[in-house]
Amino acid sequence: MRAVLAGLLVWLLALGGAGLATAQDLSALARVDAERSFAKDRRGTTTLQLGLSIPVPFRVYTLDDPRQLVIELSEVSWGGLPVEDMLTDRLSGIRAGTLAPGWSGMIVTLSEPMAIEEAQMRTTDGDAGLALRLRTTSAEAFAAAAGIPASAAAQPVAAAAPSDGNVTPVIVLDPGHGGVDPGAERDGVNEADLMLLMARELREALRREGVEVHLTRDSDVFVGLPARASLARQVGADAFVSLHADALEVGYAEGATAHTLPEDASDSASALLAERGGRDDILSGVDLSGQDDQIATVLLDLARQDTGPRSERLKLSIIDGLADAGARINTRPSREAHFAVLRSADVPSVLVEVGFLSSKRDRIELQSPEKRGRIIAGLAQGILGWLVTDETERALNRQ
Ligand SMILES: [Zn+2]
Repeated sequence: MRAVLAGLLVWLLALGGAGLATAQDLSALARVDAERSFAKDRRGTTTLQLGLSIPVPFRVYTLDDPRQLVIELSEVSWGGLPVEDMLTDRLSGIRAGTLAPGWSGMIVTLSEPMAIEEAQMRTTDGDAGLALRLRTTSAEAFAAAAGIPASAAAQPVAAAAPSDGNVTPVIVLDPGHGGVDPGAERDGVNEADLMLLMARELREALRREGVEVHLTRDSDVFVGLPARASLARQVGADAFVSLHADALEVGYAEGATAHTLPEDASDSASALLAERGGRDDILSGVDLSGQDDQIATVLLDLARQDTGPRSERLKLSIIDGLADAGARINTRPSREAHFAVLRSADVPSVLVEVGFLSSKRDRIELQSPEKRGRIIAGLAQGILGWLVTDETERALNRQ
């Protein structure tokens, strides 16, 4: 399995190279800082610095035959990578490209066996960078250490401080749409405005419980999807919760639903909602499930081994919270969809449709301060409940 994956990875990069990387540039989160990117051979060690505009999750490993160093990073735009400055006697070739939606990779050809001695994502004054130190080693030791790591999830960024039970939990709330994109509009109700109102109300409810809350927007402005997900990473959020109240053009639905990214097969109803695309920016990133891209899906799934189950538990906790608070929930509240804003592989993410603006009953509920209060209370309870159990589960997993 490992050998097969390694082969696929290399194949994807080789194929992906320039073409795919260009296509991904628009949504890339981190940019390469050429000034701070270089490599240097010393007596027994080689250092490699990759300057980045923001810290991103990463993992580093080696592959044998041919000997390669693989650096996987969450969404990096490779434009400006100073390849010449990064080549040395020992680092004899560099290819960079897209591994899978949301994941970028750099493959460095090693001219002699090298062991990874240190790999760190450093941050200083808003700048970030990956610092690697390699040490020369024997061919046998190299071969023994080579291979894709069993724990597929990328390393959390430095900003995610080790939790000791006393750390203030951080939640990023994402009021959908805004600015030039008003979202759904029915009977004079505008989704963007309503979601901002609800995000502010939820922020107050969570702050009262000691949670640090950040909003992806706190006014009627347009914020792109990568920036929304990126904020969660920048502030080291424990979770990202996107709020929407979309309108269905076809069919009927009412009550709250909560969405996570599918693990594999897509949920047909959610897929239909997602495929509506175009008008609604939150739905524009439908690209993980393509039948033609099963390999990318496999790689991405691997990266989500940790975050996926945590997102799922957050989703279920939110639905329970809403039910307990007496909010109206859909007959099938737990859903999966390929929403681009949920693609962070490192931050548990849930998109909540607090109701449907296409439903008259939902419109009335969402406009009533009292009924809306139940939704806010339910969301807060769900998020707070999850924070407690997530902390416990992670502590258990660390043992
Ligand atoms: Zn929406």
